[in-house]
Amino acid sequence: MATETIKLILKLGKPLVGRLLLYDALEMTFREVRLRRDTECPVCGDHPTVTELIDYEAFCGLHETAAG
Ligand SMILES: [Zn+2]
Repeated sequence: MATETIKLILKLGKPLVGRLLLYDALEMTFREVRLRRDTECPVCGDHPTVTELIDYEAFCGLHETAAG
């Protein structure tokens, strides 16, 4: 991810857009799979419903509430 960020900032190389690089450190192998954009994705789909960051602690119920 850090490498991809640097590439995008410098506008160099071929970004991993539409591809996923799988790395197995134990076997020291790499595999690449192509991914198609999910038009129903709530974040980057055609009609996104998640448009801002959420409070994950509240979302996961980690905040104390009056009910306990
Ligand atoms: Zn998405």
